Amino acid sequence: MLRLAIQKSGRLSEDSLKLIRECGISFITSSLKLKTESTNFPLEILYLRDDDIPGYVADGVADIGIVGENVLVEEGMQRLAVEQLGFSKCRLSLAVPKGDSYEHISDLQGKNIATSYPKLLQTYLDEKGVDANIHTISGSVEIAPSIGLADAICDIVSSGSTLISNGLREVERVFSSQAVLIANEGLDAEKRRVLDKLLFRIHAVQRAQK
Ligand code: ATP
Ligand code: ZN
Repeated sequence: MLRLAIQKSGRLSEDSLKLIRECGISFITSSLKLKTESTNFPLEILYLRDDDIPGYVADGVADIGIVGENVLVEEGMQRLAVEQLGFSKCRLSLAVPKGDSYEHISDLQGKNIATSYPKLLQTYLDEKGVDANIHTISGSVEIAPSIGLADAICDIVSSGSTLISNGLREVERVFSSQAVLIANEGLDAEKRRVLDKLLFRIHAVQRAQK
């Protein structure tokens, strides 16, 4: 039996479940349950907060998981990545108040930037040779400039409408993300075999969608 961790409720949940179903794996879901077992494949599904998924997979509490690359890389767990899944595509971008005279990344030198992704942002700023003050906040990042907490933000964007409605302008792309399948590095032969079977089906689903 292979244990798969997916997001309990959020932007990864629906497409993660859809992928598993498209692989011909049946299970019964209930919003109250924290885990379910497939009725026709040796798979158990755990429903967790997305941020906890890389850690649980690294520790072997779950064998495999589905999470955004943004969270995986922020947590320094890239080594667990097995396969990009092509959904939950988004980007991590820098944005400034729309009236600002921003022209170049060097304009952020010495500025205060609010984000929930300090490591990804630091890596990007280091690459660009920019020294800024990163303020890590866990949510509502997009309001930080309007309340005087920061000069700029670095946050997840998909359509950009949240930025616009908060009077912000996207100025730099820091990281591109999509959902990724991750696996514990020490799976035994039996679990490895089940994972290979699952991957084979995922590839078939992906080919059919092309
Ligand atoms: P949890 O309660 O599980 O911690 P969360 O609020 O941290 O949830 P979500 O907002 O559901 O997370 O986002 C989960 C992941 O989905 C993000 O880490 C990112 O990879 C992706 N994502 C975020 N926003 C979007 C978006 N607008 N469009 C597509 N994918 C997104
Ligand atoms: Zn989360």
